[in-house]
Amino acid sequence: MLPHKPIQDFVKIISLLPGIGPRQALRLAYHLLHLSPKKQQEFIRTTQGLFSKMKLCSDCFLPFEPRSSKEKLCEICRDPSRDHSVICVVEKETDLLTIEKTKKYHGVYHILGGLYSGKKKKQGASFTLPQLIQRVKRYSKSTRPIREIILALNPTSEGNLTSYYIEKAIRNLNLNIKITRLARGIPSGGEIEFADSETLINALEGRK
Ligand SMILES: [Zn+2]
Repeated sequence: MLPHKPIQDFVKIISLLPGIGPRQALRLAYHLLHLSPKKQQEFIRTTQGLFSKMKLCSDCFLPFEPRSSKEKLCEICRDPSRDHSVICVVEKETDLLTIEKTKKYHGVYHILGGLYSGKKKKQGASFTLPQLIQRVKRYSKSTRPIREIILALNPTSEGNLTSYYIEKAIRNLNLNIKITRLARGIPSGGEIEFADSETLINALEGRK
């Protein structure tokens, strides 16, 4: 017997999430159907809130909760005490959170949303390298141009390849921007997201 249509639809959409396959999605569907009506309503409200209350920062692509519909920049990008001439490029939000936890980085970020793999671009929901280039170009004409770009991608083959492409794209702009990478310390193939603060601070301070 095939699962009913509403379940099939649910599985189709939930399987799009990272790390969740059709089988797991099916299990989730059955699990949710056994929740109490109160919990089911809570689930709907929370999911809806996630989409309706959150928005992506137009500069760095970090999701944030705007105070008004006009607000376009996240808390970090609109913080005047941060150094807006330094952009730290990370693959995903959780990498940003780990770096923020060190409290030693005072620049801004750019969430890339994906990595290159081999010759083909990885199918991320949104790969924001073109937007990074646009952002750098836009700010180079303003009163606060970008001085440095820190490539803080995981030291995997995909991360390294992506760093190489970003570096090439930035150099092609001829804007005299310093491009640095995190110093060694993050184990090769390791993940920034799970690095401890001390390792990360050393990697940030020793960047070159
Ligand atoms: Zn932002």
